[in-house]
Amino acid sequence: KQKETFLVKEAIENSLYILEEDLKKRNIQYEISFLKDENIKVFGSKNELSQVILSLVSNASDALSDIEKPFINIIIDSNSADVSIHIKDNGKGINKKIQEKIFEPYFTTKEKGTGLGLYLSKLIIEKSFKGKIQVVSQKEGSLFILLFEKAI
Ligand code: ADP
Ligand code: MG
Repeated sequence: KQKETFLVKEAIENSLYILEEDLKKRNIQYEISFLKDENIKVFGSKNELSQVILSLVSNASDALSDIEKPFINIIIDSNSADVSIHIKDNGKGINKKIQEKIFEPYFTTKEKGTGLGLYLSKLIIEKSFKGKIQVVSQKEGSLFILLFEKAI
């Protein structure tokens, strides 16, 4: 868990490199877009941020199993102080009733789920990056937002 100043882009690329083949097999289109600066840096553990993105993108991919044109959008935005990473899918969405439970340890709706992905992601973003993780479930799918401070 070595901490350093690193490019957000690199953490995202590391996760996508791991998931790429699986996404291709499932016919899922994905796109990474930087709305502002491509070279935004943050301070923390690059491996931990990659782990969070891996969890969120795998969850998105699981939610896309019966969707006709499955896609995942990863959007990175920043201002002078903060960075946001949006991970959006057009999958089945998250029922309002379970929305507050998804960050609890061992909560899963999957037959072989661990229910630890979002719990650990929240821990990492809050404790290690002093940031926030938010969820928005829409009719058109789910959106997870990571917010944290930029490094200079
Ligand atoms: P797991 O993936 O092992 O089930 P997670 O902690 O990663 O555990 O996720 C918990 C639950 O949150 C999932 O079982 C699923 O019900 C819900 N969930 C998470 N991400 C999404 C998503 N993108 N779309 C729909 N449901 C989701
Ligand atoms: Mg998961």
